[in-house]
Amino acid sequence: MDKLTIRDIDVAGKTVLVRVDFNVPRDKDTGEITDDNRVVAALPTINYLLDHNPKAVVLFSHLGKIKKEEDKAKNDMAVVAPKLAELLGRDVKFVNATRGAELEEAVKNAENGQVILVQNTRYEAGETKNDPELGAYWASLGDVFVEDAFGSVHRAHASTVGIAAHLPAVAGFLVEKEIAYIGKAVSDPERPLVAILGGSKVSSKIGVIENLLNIADKIIIGGGMCYTFAKAQGHTVGSSLVEEDKVDLAKSFIEKGGDKLILPIDSVVSSKFGEDGDIKVVGEDVPEGYMGLDIGPKTVELFAKELEGAKTVIWNGPMGVFEMPKFAEGTKAVCSMLANLKGANTIIGGGDSAAAVKQLGFADKVSHISTGGGASLEYMEGKVLPGIAAINDK
Ligand code: ADP
Ligand code: MG
Repeated sequence: MDKLTIRDIDVAGKTVLVRVDFNVPRDKDTGEITDDNRVVAALPTINYLLDHNPKAVVLFSHLGKIKKEEDKAKNDMAVVAPKLAELLGRDVKFVNATRGAELEEAVKNAENGQVILVQNTRYEAGETKNDPELGAYWASLGDVFVEDAFGSVHRAHASTVGIAAHLPAVAGFLVEKEIAYIGKAVSDPERPLVAILGGSKVSSKIGVIENLLNIADKIIIGGGMCYTFAKAQGHTVGSSLVEEDKVDLAKSFIEKGGDKLILPIDSVVSSKFGEDGDIKVVGEDVPEGYMGLDIGPKTVELFAKELEGAKTVIWNGPMGVFEMPKFAEGTKAVCSMLANLKGANTIIGGGDSAAAVKQLGFADKVSHISTGGGASLEYMEGKVLPGIAAINDK
C-alpha cells in the first residue's frame, strides 16, 4: 500500500485525532444502539494507538443526518460513549460540544491516553461543506490525524479531509484493509478478475458497470437490473423491474462487453411481489403477469462455470430479492460459489450485499466485506475518494 498508516508514525506523547465511523443504527423509540458493529470495528485502531502511549485519543464522527435544529437531539453522540467505554474497558470522556472551551480544556488536560469522544461533527453546519475554518480549528487541537471512517471517505467534509490538510494524516486499520482489498482489486488485481453485479437498479450502478467493463475479465449480471438488459436483448420481461430510460444504455453495455458480459438464462418468477404468489421457473422470457425475482437454477450453473478459476471476485448487488427466502436461492448459491473458490480474493461491496452475505451465514467465508456502502460503490467505480486522497503517501 502506498499510503502511510498508524504503523508508520510515532504517537507517544501526542494528541491523536481520529475520524471514526460511529454512525450507529438506533431504535426509533428508545434511541438505544441496535447494532454496535461500527464501534467494534473501530477498536483495533483505537487500541493500537492506546498501546503506543499517546497523550490523548480524540474521536470524531458524524451520527445521522442533521437538517434542522430538532434533528440534533435525535442524533446525540452521547449514546455511543458508554458503549465505547464498555468495549474498550476504560474511561471515555464525552465532550458535549464540537468547539469551544470545554473541548479545548478536555484535550489540554488529557493525559495517559485519555479517550475523548467529541459531539456529533454534523452539529457544525460547516462539517458537510468542508468549511476550511472548521477543519483548521479541529486540526489545531491535535498533532496527527488518523482516517479510519471508511464509510465516510467518499465525502469531502471538514472531519474527513479538512483536518487532514493541516496535520500529518495516516490511515487506520479499517481504511488500510479497504484499500488493500478494494483498492487492489480495481487497480492491480490478480487475474482473472470476475465482477458479479446485481441489486435493484442499473441506474445506481452505471459507474460501477462502466469501470468494471474496462478492468474485469468477466462481468456477471443478475438481480433486478438484469431485466433492463433482458429487455435490451429483446426478451419479454412481464412486470419485472425495468428502467425504460436505461434500456439503450444496457444495449451499449452489451455491445461493449461482448463475450465478457454474462447474463442470466432463466429466472424464478412470481405473479406478485411476495412469497404467496404463483411462483415458477421460466427461461429468458418472463411471461405477462409475472415478475422476475431471482436468477434460476440454469443460471446458477452457468455462473458457477464462469467463476471457475477466478483469482479475484468483486461482488456488488444481490442476485434476487434475498430478503424473502423463496427468492434468496440465487444469492445463496453465489455465496457458496465464492466460499468454495480456492485461493481467490473475494470482495463484497454495497450495503445490501454485505447484509445478504451476513444474513445467509457466509460472512467468514469471503475475504472481505466492505464496511462502507456508498464509499465501496464509489471505490469500485474507480473514483478518487477524497478521504483516501487526503492520507499522506508513503
Ligand atoms: P447494494 O446495497 O448491495 O449496492 P442494491 O441496493 O443495488 O445493492 O440492491 C439491493 C436490493 O435489490 C435488495 O433489496 C433486493 O431485494 C433487490 N433486488 C434484487 N433482485 C431483485 C429483483 N429481481 N427485483 C426486484 N428487486 C430486486
Ligand atoms: Mg442498497
